[in-house]
Amino acid sequence: MRSPRMKRVPNASSEGRLNPRVQGLDRSATLAINEKCTRLRARGVNIFQMGFGQSPFPVPPIMVEALRRHADEKAYLPVQGLPELREAIVGYYRRTEGLDYAPDHVLVGPGTKELMFILQLVYAAEILIPSPSWVSYAPQASIIGRTVRWLPTTFSDGLCITPDQLDQVCRRDPGRHRLLFMNYPGNPTGATYTAAQLEGIAEVARKYDVLILSDEIYSGLQFNGEHVSIARFYPEGTIVSNGLSKWCGAGGWRLGAFALHENLEWLVEAMTAVASETFTSVAAPIQYAAITGFSGGPQIDGYVSGCRRILSGLLGVCAKRLRETGAVLCEPQGGFYLFPCFDNLIPAIMKNGQPTTSGELCRRILDDTGVTLLPGSDFGRAEAELSVRIAAVDFDGGPALDALSELPPDLIPDEVFLQRYCTPVIDGMARICGWLNAQ
Ligand code: PMP
Repeated sequence: MRSPRMKRVPNASSEGRLNPRVQGLDRSATLAINEKCTRLRARGVNIFQMGFGQSPFPVPPIMVEALRRHADEKAYLPVQGLPELREAIVGYYRRTEGLDYAPDHVLVGPGTKELMFILQLVYAAEILIPSPSWVSYAPQASIIGRTVRWLPTTFSDGLCITPDQLDQVCRRDPGRHRLLFMNYPGNPTGATYTAAQLEGIAEVARKYDVLILSDEIYSGLQFNGEHVSIARFYPEGTIVSNGLSKWCGAGGWRLGAFALHENLEWLVEAMTAVASETFTSVAAPIQYAAITGFSGGPQIDGYVSGCRRILSGLLGVCAKRLRETGAVLCEPQGGFYLFPCFDNLIPAIMKNGQPTTSGELCRRILDDTGVTLLPGSDFGRAEAELSVRIAAVDFDGGPALDALSELPPDLIPDEVFLQRYCTPVIDGMARICGWLNAQ
């Protein structure tokens, strides 16, 4: 199946001049929707931005201060990353997951997205991607020329792949090199895996020597604060991917890191060689400031737990409202997103003008309500499935965190709090649900 963002539209002026693998490549769906919102807002249209998903929370002040202190760091840093930062990342995994890595097996890059691209470039393997999945895994594979195999998931399995499913794929050609992308808590699903599910998948991956890229960028935002990495069960074949973009609210700082088992040193070396010929190293001041984030401590921990409480309350309320419309969805367990499906409402929706793909559905909802969403097809779902991704981040997280600090610790904010501090999300949800109910 071709990646959803790889529509190869012929373009006369570029004919024959572009690498066929990028000919007609659209810009990433999430970035495109952000730019569309900005354009609509500039024209004065009242938009509820539920398409693009970046952290609503400010970068923790202690990190901003660290960045300020290091603004004059100007040297190129080692390609793999500043040694003190790699030590801090190793400490982070020891603290949060009980996993032990050597700093020499950590690779820091300008966002995990870039590191994933380099991984797909250097590792000659078939790429296994659950559907739905984050928008960039598959286009990266297409650009590089890797074969992609989608692993469809169902709502009844919580939008998670199963050990059996992986076994069935691998058993057909057991000797083939494979790279499996997993992401939990998930974008777009909001779902995560239990330790038992991870253990089952780890067992099959070990049997067939499948390399796993465990995308744990939302791990700090798992609502119960108890994220479990599949690396706990399959350390020798897992690359753990994490960064500052989500739990630290610093997507624009562009810093991500991979941690690998000593068995995978050959991969660290290959990736570092490519990094040395491409991005060289992440901006020095950012690397120094990132040490503060990965080192944790009361301020960082308090900040992350505050973000979790707000998101947990907010996504819980949004999920409840959607369920009341009859939509099917999984209970969100972390991150920024909900992934409802309106298929069971199709007959009702069809009456008023037939959106027959999730893309058309999103256009209709935008025209009728001013809410931007992303269609499930952008995440690898069949176009005919009326699923959408809802990002619940269109609010200012700074005042919300300040107000939360007045509440008893551990209290999950209620609807009154959320209506006051997360107004655009609650109002946007009301519009979506009102629209669904009116069909
Ligand atoms: N994985 C997932 C699931 C994401 O949602 C994102 C960002 N949207 C990334 C990876 C990339 O993050 P970054 O490059 O900022 O580290």
